[in-house]
Amino acid sequence: MRCERVAIDGSMGEGGGQVLRSSLTLALVTGRSLNVENIRAGRKKPGLLRQHLSAVRAAAEVGQAEVRGGELGSQKIEFVPGAVVPGEYRFSIGSAGSATLVLQTVLPALLTASGPSKIVLEGGTHNPMAPPFEFLEKSFLPCVRRMGPRVEATLDRPGFYPAGGGAFAVAIEPVERLESFDLLERGKTTKKIARAIVANLPLDIGDRELEKVRELLTWDRRELCVEEFTDAAGSGNVLILELHGEHVTQVVTGFGERRASAHSVAERAVRELRRYLTSDIPVDEHLADQLLLPLALAKRGTFRTVRPSSHTRTNIDVIRSFLDIDVKLTEKAHDEFIIELQTNETAKHVKE
Ligand code: ATP
Repeated sequence: MRCERVAIDGSMGEGGGQVLRSSLTLALVTGRSLNVENIRAGRKKPGLLRQHLSAVRAAAEVGQAEVRGGELGSQKIEFVPGAVVPGEYRFSIGSAGSATLVLQTVLPALLTASGPSKIVLEGGTHNPMAPPFEFLEKSFLPCVRRMGPRVEATLDRPGFYPAGGGAFAVAIEPVERLESFDLLERGKTTKKIARAIVANLPLDIGDRELEKVRELLTWDRRELCVEEFTDAAGSGNVLILELHGEHVTQVVTGFGERRASAHSVAERAVRELRRYLTSDIPVDEHLADQLLLPLALAKRGTFRTVRPSSHTRTNIDVIRSFLDIDVKLTEKAHDEFIIELQTNETAKHVKE
């Protein structure tokens, strides 16, 4: 194992929170010390926001790390990890910042830890610019389970901007090493669900969203459901469309907003799902950037996806800063790419 300190320029590529989170994850799994400068330099309000600081603290707790610069607004941190310790953790963001992104930071290290873990995460569970809980549960975690570990997530209550206060729990049964997988086809559609979550708002908002979904997509009434939460910290509404395939599940969301009608929320989500349905590509833009890290840790893997976003390309660069991995992007057609990961070790072995 290479053991020199890794220096990451947080302004690279996308220049957002992902550079920091992926770096923390990779520092945990490789045991390498990390310096990150110019944290979120590409954003209007650079430096650590609550969600990013929570990710730093969560990574430090799980990896018994020493941290310098772990304060709100900090644009520079030093992270010196110790051993990854599985167990019971509770991470609270203290704002509506995304709790799923904090999980994203620590999960890979716990997948191959020496024992099981149970984590409770509190904060935002449904944020427009982050993986919503259902994306985590239905889209991302099934891919992780294909790699061997048992991971289950359960939503206790949703947390929306600005109140936050959502909570979910994740149980992890690790494995010694992650298995790789290939994801080139969606397979047959096995199930469709339109789910309207309504927290402390009139329930008919959800009914109207679902009625519009039914009209636009001609889905059956049995494929529609409203979930009401009266114990959420604040109010909020999200419409979630799930398309379960044999090999992958696509999750798109439409967020209720004060001035947006229930119909327009449904129309937006349906438009996004239709975009997915116009091709047979299994991995969307978001799942693509999130699969890279676990597959890199498994040392191999291939998936078919849309044109890589700048998030995806930046994530590849961060991964290459830590691991000796070959990531090949092959353009197959307009907006269709194959991404192949292979450690240079494996690549060499295959050639011999
Ligand atoms: P900032 O950009 O302010 O630094 P950030 O820390 O939230 O914000 P980003 O770098 O924007 O971080 O990363 C956002 C993450 O959320 C990425 O992993 C992206 O794939 C994921 N994501 C965003 N929107 C969705 C969505 N609708 N479904 C699933 N995942 C999403």
